[in-house]
Amino acid sequence: MLTGIPASSGAAIGPFFLLNTDIPVADAQQSQLSTEQETQSLTAAIARVGADLDARAARTTGELHEILIAMAEIATDPAIAEEAEAFIAGGRTASYAMVKATEVFQELLTASGGYLAERVSDVANIRDRVLCEIAGISYPEIPHFDVPTVLIAQDLSPADTADLETDKVLAIVTAGGGPTSHTAIIARSNGIAAIVACPGVVQAAIASPNATVAVDATTGDVVFNPDSTVKSAIENKIEKIKARKSRTVSRSKDGYITTDNVVVPIYANIGRIEDTVAAVTAGADGVGLLRTELLYLDRSDAPTLQEQTAIYTELFTPFNNQKVIIRTLDAGADKPMAFISFDNEPNPALGVRGYRTINKHENLLRTQLQAIAAAAKATKAEVWVMAPMITLPEEAKNFVAMAKEYGLEKAGVMIEVPAAVFLADEITKVCHFVSIGTNDLGQYLHAADRESAALAGFNDPWQPALLRAVHQIAQAGIKNNCPVGVCGEAASDPTLASVLVGMGVSSLSCSVATLTDVAQAITAHSSAQLNQAGKAAVGANTASQAKNAARNELVELANLGL
Ligand code: PEP
Ligand code: MG
Repeated sequence: MLTGIPASSGAAIGPFFLLNTDIPVADAQQSQLSTEQETQSLTAAIARVGADLDARAARTTGELHEILIAMAEIATDPAIAEEAEAFIAGGRTASYAMVKATEVFQELLTASGGYLAERVSDVANIRDRVLCEIAGISYPEIPHFDVPTVLIAQDLSPADTADLETDKVLAIVTAGGGPTSHTAIIARSNGIAAIVACPGVVQAAIASPNATVAVDATTGDVVFNPDSTVKSAIENKIEKIKARKSRTVSRSKDGYITTDNVVVPIYANIGRIEDTVAAVTAGADGVGLLRTELLYLDRSDAPTLQEQTAIYTELFTPFNNQKVIIRTLDAGADKPMAFISFDNEPNPALGVRGYRTINKHENLLRTQLQAIAAAAKATKAEVWVMAPMITLPEEAKNFVAMAKEYGLEKAGVMIEVPAAVFLADEITKVCHFVSIGTNDLGQYLHAADRESAALAGFNDPWQPALLRAVHQIAQAGIKNNCPVGVCGEAASDPTLASVLVGMGVSSLSCSVATLTDVAQAITAHSSAQLNQAGKAAVGANTASQAKNAARNELVELANLGL
C-alpha cells in the first residue's frame, strides 16, 4: 500500500495506465551545427509548442483554458529564448540550451515562491514539449481509454490533460504535485478522485503492469492488486459516495443546518470572476474570502478607482442578499505586486506585506476602500471588508475606522499572525468580525514556510498548536459577541471543518471544489457531536491523534464515504 495526499475526494478500483513522460534528452552538449542552425531549430520548436498550447487552450474552457493560455505565453516569452540563445552562442546544442535556460527560469520562479513557484512544473512541461519538437519525436500523450482507467503519472501538466476524456478516467494518482497543483485543480473541477505526492507510485506501476489498483482519495491510500478485503471496502466506499452525491442537505437562507437546527453559513473563497458562478452553483451562502490581489498579480500599474469599482461590482452582483467578505490587497511575500514598492527584504514573509504596506501606500488602500464602497452601493450584496496580516489591536482599530470613513460599516480583520491570537480578546472588541487564516497562521506558529515540501508536517492544519489557537480565538469571539470565521484551507477539509464549528467558529469559507463535501459533513451531525469533536481535537497532543479523536465523534463521516 502506498500513501499520498488526497487532492480530490472519491474512490475507485480498476485497471491503470502509466503515463510515461520521460523525455529522451539529447546527450550532446556541444553542437556540430552552426549557431544559426541551432537557433533556427530552437525558434521553430518553441513556435510549434506555443501554437499547440494555444490550440489546446481553444479546445478547453474554464480554469484549464486560462492555465493553457498562460502556458502558451510562458513558452513564447522571449526571455526563455534569449537565455537559450546565449547558450547556443557558446557552442551548445538547441536541446541543451533549452534545458539550461529552463533551469535558470525555474530557479527564478522557485525563489519567488507562492503562485510563481507553482509555475515551475509548467515550465518543465514546456521544456519537454520543445525537446520533443527539436528531436522530431512525438510527445507522449494520454491515449484514449476503452474502459474506465486509473491514470498514474509522475506529474501531470495542464497541457497533458487538455484532451482528457474525463468520463473514462476513474482516478488520477501522481508521484509529484501538491494539493494546490494543477492536477488537483483539474481533478476537482471534473469530479475525478485524485491523490498527489504519492512517492513510489510510478515504480509500483512499472513493477505490476497488469495489476488492478484501488484508490481511496479520502485517506490517500493506493493499493496495487488489492485483496478481497480491500476490494470490498473500496466498493463499499464507492457506493456511499454515490449515495452522498444524491443526499439532500438541510439549508435555510442563512446557512446550512445541523441535525439539531443550528445554522452554519458556508461561504466560498474566490479570486476571479469565473469563480462566482462556480460558488453559486456549489451552494455557497456567499463569499467568505475574496482575494483581491489575485485580480492584479500581472498589473504593472495600480488599478484605478473606476477599474476597481467595475470589477468589484461584477464580483458582488451574483450574491444578491448574501454576504461577500472582500479582503483588501494582500500583497507581498509570495504575492509580489509591481505597483507596490517593497524594500529588498531578506525575509519577505516576515516583511512588509498585507496591511503593513499602508506605511508607503495608504492611498492605494483608500482607493480600494472607496471602490469597494461604490460597488457595494451598486449591488444587493451585503459587503463586509477585511484587512490581511493584522498583528496588533491598534491596526485593527485603525482599519475599522478607515473603512467607516468610506461608509463600509462592517469591517474586520484576518487573524493569521501569532501575536494576534494572544491579542484576540482586544481585537474581537474593536472589529465587527474576524476571519482566521489558518494557512499563514500555521506557517507563522511553526516558523515553517507554507510552500516548503520538507516542512509540510508543520503546516498540517491538524497540528495541536493551530487547533488550540483557533479555539482561543473562537472563544474570544463568543465572549465579545464578534463572529469568528475560518477562511484558510483548514475549512475545506470536511472533518476539520466540523471540528472548527465544534470549537466555536461561527462560519466557514472553503474552496468551491470542496464546499458540498463540507456541507454534507456539517449537516449530517448535531451541534453536540460537532462540539464533542472540537473538544476531542483540542485535547489531542499530535495532529494524527486530533484527527482520529475527532473522527471517533463524527460518526456519520464514514457513512457518507468522507
Ligand atoms: C490564510 O492565510 O489562511 C489565508 C486565507 O490567506 P492566504 O492563503 O491568501 O494567505
Ligand atoms: Mg494569509
